[in-house]
Amino acid sequence: MDLHSGLPYWIVRNSLLDYYHPLENDLTTDIAIIGSGITGALMAHELCRAGIECCIIDKRSIATGSSAASTALLQYEIDVPLYRMAGIIGEKNAETAYHACLQSITDIKKVLEETGVDAGYEQLPSLFYASSPADNKLLEQEYEMRRKHKLPVSLLKKKEAKERFNVETPGNALVNETSAQIDAYRAATGLLTYHIKENGLKVFTHTDIKECTETSDGCIMTTDKGYKIKCGYAIIATGFEAGQFLPKVIMDLTSTYALISHPVAPEYLWPTHCLIWETADPYLYIRTTDGNRIIIGGEDEKFSDPQRRDSLLRNKTHILEKKFRKLLPNIPFKTEMAWCGTFSTTKDGLPFIGNWPDKKRIFFDLGYGGNGITFSMIGAQIICHMLQGIKDERSSVFGYKRIEKYW
Ligand SMILES: Cc1cc2nc3c(=O)[nH]c(=O)nc-3n(C[C@H](O)[C@H](O)[C@H](O)COP(=O)(O)OP(=O)(O)OC[C@H]3O[C@@H](n4cnc5c(N)ncnc54)[C@H](O)[C@@H]3O)c2cc1C
Repeated sequence: MDLHSGLPYWIVRNSLLDYYHPLENDLTTDIAIIGSGITGALMAHELCRAGIECCIIDKRSIATGSSAASTALLQYEIDVPLYRMAGIIGEKNAETAYHACLQSITDIKKVLEETGVDAGYEQLPSLFYASSPADNKLLEQEYEMRRKHKLPVSLLKKKEAKERFNVETPGNALVNETSAQIDAYRAATGLLTYHIKENGLKVFTHTDIKECTETSDGCIMTTDKGYKIKCGYAIIATGFEAGQFLPKVIMDLTSTYALISHPVAPEYLWPTHCLIWETADPYLYIRTTDGNRIIIGGEDEKFSDPQRRDSLLRNKTHILEKKFRKLLPNIPFKTEMAWCGTFSTTKDGLPFIGNWPDKKRIFFDLGYGGNGITFSMIGAQIICHMLQGIKDERSSVFGYKRIEKYW
């Protein structure tokens, strides 16, 4: 699958990692992770930290799938609002999911600190505004629900949002101070480089796994060149390309668009450089970079055909620019580059983490949804706990058993 068009900003800024090690023989290992994006990198980090032997296999250059295209906002706020998620999966489970995302933002920071990986992590407020005055009621409902479950949040009137952030929101807004942003490509490549050096992690690039079969005591994978990888456990961290390993379709693939501006003089940027997003579906979202550029994303379309997706890029770029100018009219904004990506949503807004019900040796670490990166952190922890026999209360909320219920 073509996960994104052209070169997303992060690859241009950081350059490709010239690490080329295709698997050229059969291999035996305790755990084989398929996928070297942010999910595979965090998974390898948790396993290396726990002293569990593992290796990574990827068909592309390291982290050049969706992680390179990601706009990488880290938020505890999930695409499905808490009050609505509570109606789908129950209030207790929804509360667990939201608190897990909140914790994950701090945990990602800790991982980067303990490995010394500079991935541009920056803690920032997040402004979630009503896309029309009619959505103020939804915001109030969401505000009450988040307060009830002790999530950090305050409710601002439209006028207060303008005073505090200089943003022309159409309605009121929710604010929290606990969000963050990173460069997911730099995080994944940095973490893998660290563990290759410090823990002898083996990474095989340009090696396509064609098959992964469970046996009585492990799994056998077959590569495109016909080599066999024998492992105790397999972890599928293949992002939006996981369909080939799944017995059933569990996600809807969509297309999404992002662009980045020329650097802007700091005095033009809005106070605090908060993350900005809205109640509309699909939603517009905005962040800055450490080089004072502005990233805008959104305009999702409910199809994944790469040709059709890419043909809309110019038009989508104009729409995103127009929406930005309405919200922040005083910023001299000029697009530097734009790209499209494939994205995935699930019915309850949550990822799929754990074993498929009848597969004990294959774990799926699939961070689907707008919070893919925070979900990747949670997935790495849950799967590492499962492998160690440690109980993790999050596993049932994000697990595959719910497929029987909702799919
Ligand atoms: C435009 C855009 C904006 C986004 N914005 C945000 C955001 O603001 N916040 C957020 O949290 N998330 C966001 N996301 C989602 C987030 O980027 C993804 O959830 C995350 O990057 C997925 O990481 P991954 O490692 O699971 O997948 P990937 O980065 O795609 O890595 C999977 C890897 O598996 C490899 N692979 C696949 N199949 C095989 C195979 N058969 N054999 C060998 N290797 C294989 C691929 O080559 C790939 O490198 C965004 C995504 C896009 C596209």
